[in-house]
Amino acid sequence: MSQFWSPIVHTLTPYVPGEQPKVANLIKLNTNENPYPPSPKALEAIAAANNDRLKLYPDPSSDKLKQTLANYHHLTADQVFVGNGSDEVLAHAFQALLKHDKPLLFPDISYSFYPVYCGLYDIDYQLIPLTDTFEINIDDYQQPCGAIIFPNPNAPTGRLLALESVEALLKMHPDTVVLVDEAYIDFGGQSACVLINQYPNLLVTQTLSKSRSLAGIRVGFALGQAHLIEALERVKNSFNSYPIDSLAMPAAIAAFEDQSYFEETCQKIIDSRNHVTATMEALGFNVLPSAANFIFATHATLDAADIVQQLRDEAIIVRYFNKPRINQFLRITIGNDYENNRLCEELTKIVHRSK
Ligand SMILES: *Cc1c(COP(=O)(O)O)cnc(C)c1O
Repeated sequence: MSQFWSPIVHTLTPYVPGEQPKVANLIKLNTNENPYPPSPKALEAIAAANNDRLKLYPDPSSDKLKQTLANYHHLTADQVFVGNGSDEVLAHAFQALLKHDKPLLFPDISYSFYPVYCGLYDIDYQLIPLTDTFEINIDDYQQPCGAIIFPNPNAPTGRLLALESVEALLKMHPDTVVLVDEAYIDFGGQSACVLINQYPNLLVTQTLSKSRSLAGIRVGFALGQAHLIEALERVKNSFNSYPIDSLAMPAAIAAFEDQSYFEETCQKIIDSRNHVTATMEALGFNVLPSAANFIFATHATLDAADIVQQLRDEAIIVRYFNKPRINQFLRITIGNDYENNRLCEELTKIVHRSK
């Protein structure tokens, strides 16, 4: 019955998110969610908004949330764009800012949604290989291009590009939008948003799904100079003018107002990341230096797909990409203490069984 489809639908290869199995007692370390619950203040805010005002449409411009985010990042409200998760913000950005005659550049190993958006919006792109140590080398981006996008820290590698290098890239391409996807920046990097007022070509996206433990409410945002935000607003208001719903907005605001909870949970994840890394290195894994809430690791002798299966048999799920260059790596989300200990316990058994 696909003769009913619009022509482009035949060409699409949609993104496949990490699985969300409905199995009890599963240790889910495959989709980079936060192991800790949302701030209690965010949950209270949702409860307080759960009333008969839900019969009304939400604020179409999400003004209060924009102001909260602007204050937090020392920007103005017209430098903030909000959407249903940063995936939606990215979708609008691909259409509004990244589609040009020259190709969009992004790393060969990065967020697998990028090529999917290029397919949907018919954007020409060129993959720039990461170095042998899975780092972005900005000199490789010294070529004509329509725009540049990369996650920082990168996913699924976890590797961070230093702020000085981000700035050097902005200077290298002053007439080209550089979109820095900072989904994981709170776990170990310094945000490029401090450069926004200096660089009219910089757009930064962030999300509440990872460091704020709110993947379920779908809020993400972009920060940049007002002319870039206006392009996003034009596309958004040609698509769905009511992005943030009336429960998500107060939750998002409350999450940004609870700085101590945020710092405490991020720090716990960073400490756990260091602990899991050290344990795995002692077991013969090479773990890439990570600035994110996950690690990317390969074992000296054991096959990655095999390890994934053995963990799965023990109800521990990690992410595996059967793709060139990374098919011997596991991407493991940092969990809570119990989950991390179970992971290390099972990895220890797997390594010892193989001897
Ligand atoms: C998780 C993630 C996102 C999207 O997060 P949302 O839940 O849609 O806000 C965007 N970019 C990268 C690199 C991610 O890992």
